[in-house]
Amino acid sequence: MTRKLEIICSPYTGYCFGVKRAMRLIDKGLAEHGGHIHTLGDVIHNMQAVERLKSRGVKPVSNLDEVESGATLIIRAHGVHPDLLEEAQRRGIHLIDATCPFVGRSQGYVKQLSKKSYQVIIIGDSKHPEVISISGNAGDRAIIIDTPEAAREIDKLDRAGLVIQTTFSREKALAIIHELEKRIDNLLVYDTICQATELRREATLELASNVNLMLVVGGRASSNTKRLFRLCIDRGIPAKFIETAEEIDPGWFDQCERVGITTGTSTPDWVIDNVIRRMEEITKARNSGFE
Ligand code: SF4
Repeated sequence: MTRKLEIICSPYTGYCFGVKRAMRLIDKGLAEHGGHIHTLGDVIHNMQAVERLKSRGVKPVSNLDEVESGATLIIRAHGVHPDLLEEAQRRGIHLIDATCPFVGRSQGYVKQLSKKSYQVIIIGDSKHPEVISISGNAGDRAIIIDTPEAAREIDKLDRAGLVIQTTFSREKALAIIHELEKRIDNLLVYDTICQATELRREATLELASNVNLMLVVGGRASSNTKRLFRLCIDRGIPAKFIETAEEIDPGWFDQCERVGITTGTSTPDWVIDNVIRRMEEITKARNSGFE
């Protein structure tokens, strides 16, 4: 141990606008509906936050059969398939729609494109709930791709319109669009990448280039957190993906002078505070040898 240790936090951490809004709607729903509401799947991809919400009366369910008529169901920020919305209304389930307005915008675009008989293309992960919810608004006839190779396999088309999963990498999306433009005469591109995730990526890269190691904090199921981690690794920057402060091993920093902290858009502030506190303890213990 020969060097002082410094911790630098990204300027963009914690919940994004869409997650903050969903959490506000959950608080309101709990207050108005007797302290018991349901969410279809985990409301956000963060186990710590989901566990806290459970203890406050928010119960994740896997399908509508688990929700009785008259009960309240929160539609999470990723949105849901329109058939499911319709079915919930038919069953007399009270809905609180926390679909992020940015996801709602993509849903609106594909609805319009379908109405005008455009082939809808979605750039994103076909298994991601947001993409499933968007695709449903195109009558499930959308082509969903996430690589330039997949774009090269699409048959030639006269016209198509595309949207992009909000958390998708712009670099990768541009490479896919480049391939699509060779195959589609009239391609309408709606840039639906969310600025919150882009700013986070840019800030993470800038920070990563000034530190010896990055701590990426967030849920293991969170795609935008996984992407931040990959971003660091792909640029050759050592990084550790952690969900909580308890996972931190002080030995990771033996050869470091500067450590950066970044987080996904679904990482709660209290998880981040615990990580910062733990890092401050480690820093204090290490730097005391220099006083
Ligand atoms: S990352 Fe962007 S699109 Fe997704 S919930 Fe947050 S603000 Fe909405």
